[in-house]
This record gives sequence, C-alpha cells and structure tokens, in this order.
Amino acid sequence: MALSDFPRHPLTFGPSPVHPLPRLSEHLGGARIWMKREDCNSGLAFGGNKVRKLEYIVPDAIASGADTLVSIGGVQSNHTRQVAAVAAHLGMKAVLVQEAWVDWPDSVNDRVGNIMLSRIMGAEVRLDPSGFDIGIRDSWQQALEDVEARGGRPYGIPAGASEHPLGGLGFANWAYEVEQQEAELGVFFDTIVVCTVTGSTHAGMIAGFAGQERPRRVLGIDASATLDKTREQVGRIARHTAALIDLGRELREDEITVLEGWAGDYYGIPVDSTLDAIRLTGSLEGVILDPVYEGKSMAGLIDLVASGEIPRTSNVLYAHLGGQPALNAYSALFRS
Ligand SMILES: *Cc1c(COP(=O)(O)O)cnc(C)c1O
Repeated sequence: MALSDFPRHPLTFGPSPVHPLPRLSEHLGGARIWMKREDCNSGLAFGGNKVRKLEYIVPDAIASGADTLVSIGGVQSNHTRQVAAVAAHLGMKAVLVQEAWVDWPDSVNDRVGNIMLSRIMGAEVRLDPSGFDIGIRDSWQQALEDVEARGGRPYGIPAGASEHPLGGLGFANWAYEVEQQEAELGVFFDTIVVCTVTGSTHAGMIAGFAGQERPRRVLGIDASATLDKTREQVGRIARHTAALIDLGRELREDEITVLEGWAGDYYGIPVDSTLDAIRLTGSLEGVILDPVYEGKSMAGLIDLVASGEIPRTSNVLYAHLGGQPALNAYSALFRS
C-alpha cells in the first residue's frame, strides 16, 4: 500500500508552517536554519507531534468500536495531553496513566501544564509511581482491563504512539509535506534535525524521506538518555513503516542516525546546553522551546553547526515538535 491508501482522520490545520530563522542563522554564522512548526499544527490543545501520529491511528480506533482511548506517559507528558484532546474532539473518553518518569522536585509538577490541560478536557488521570521506560507497561495493560471491566471499549495507544503498528505513518506523511513545501518555497533542506525519544517521529521521517529522489540527512537528537533503546526502537519502527508504505527496499544502517550528547543524564532533566538553547532561541527569534525535548535537540543543532558537522552552506530544517505546556513545571529554572 502507498501511504495515501491508509485512512487518515484530519486533526491538524493542514500543512504545518515552515519559516526561516534569520537571526539564529546569523548568530550561528552559517547554515541557514528553518523551522517546521508542529507546535502550532492543530487547534486541539496546542497541538504537537502526537496529533499528527494520531491522524493515522484514529481511523483504526473508530473502526474498532472503541469508546475510550487509553494511553500512558510521564506526569508532564505532551502525548497524553494530545490523546485527551483527540478523545474530547471525537466524543470519546480518555484514561491516562501518568508515571513518575522524571524525578523533578517542582511542587506543582503534577498540577500545571500538560496534566492540568488533560484534566480540563475531562480525561481520567491516574498517577503511577513507575519510572521512565519507552516500552509497553503493566500499568497501561491494567488500565485497559479496568475500562473493559466497567463495560467500556478501550483502545490502547502506547507511549508516544510509537509502539503502534501505524505509529510511523504521521511523520512519513510529514516527509511528503516537506517535499511539497520545498517546491513552493524553492529551497531544499539537505539536513533535518529532530528530537527523538519513543522514536516514531524520527522513524516515520526516515521512512518517508527514503522514498524521495534527493537524499538528505535526517539527524535524530536523543533526549531519552537511554540511547540504545531509542536507537533500536527508531530502527525497528523505521523499517516497519518503510515496509508498510511499500518503500520497495531495505533501509540502510546509515539512514538511521540517532546522535547522543545533549540528553544529559536523565530524560526530562535539562542540562546547561538545554537552557542555553532555550534562552538563545527565545531571545533571538521569539520562539519557545521546552526543557524536556526541543531544548535538547536545538542544543544539538547549535553544536553541530558550530563544529562544522552541519556545513555552513547547509539548509537545515529543524522540526519543532511542540511541548511548551511542560515549561510551567520548570519555572524555577528561569527565575534569574
Ligand atoms: C513526544 C515528543 C518528542 C519525541 O517524539 P517521539 O516520537 O517520542 O520520539 C519530541 N518533542 C516533543 C515536544 C514531544 O512531545
């Protein structure tokens, strides 16, 4: 099947905006940096990359006869907030398992930002003490069983919508969208920079771009701090997605690039380079990044340009995947 043969339930405004970042590019002294804005891709609870993935998962959920979306993430998960929004939009219920993925001392961590938005949208939020893991979890299985036990019809969406057979399609579609926007703008992005954790955003892009005429680099910046798991998951989902959309060849190892160096020691805990990247992008461009994901991938982009790993002549497309609501749980970092 071609990607266009898969049913897609539109949840976004249409193609997400692409624009240059002239002041950041000038500051870095070379490569021309552009952004594609998944942080404002939808009217559903501030949007984000998970809304795009859900466009290809929702038709399956509706076809299954489900009345409840069940998902899982950290306390400040952007993904579960987007699931809550999509459930509300579809007239379904949402049950969200919110695990203690981040040991973060902010006293309002479990009250503000994403988790508050999920509560506002009517989701059942379950706090769970388990730690960070991008795989399938018992607490999630338990939530599915609980919905059944009370007579509901659950539809399970794993962490980040990644370990779902259709999880990579949303960003395979993103790759086609980029190609169309390039034709309109008269530019070619030789390098894509994207944050990667549960993997299907990066993996979908790899599968989508692999079928295009002109090769380009799709650099995933790890923000999981569990590099081997993320690398394995990206490779596996990329290959699965490539087969789903009939790429017609195996992906090569060199098409799957997950770079380390900017995650710090823990998922969800920013390091100096994260905060520098957030302040730099905010003060030069008025664009807001979060401390869990995008601050880390932007730190990667900045260093890769500075070191010449991304050449000065490059056109770079930075995928802004959203995530700003979590900033509310990190207020102490920005008081001075
Ligand atoms: C989920 C998320 C990511 C990571 O995407 P994966 O598909 O899980 O690798 C990056 N940035 C933001 C803002 C996210 O919410």
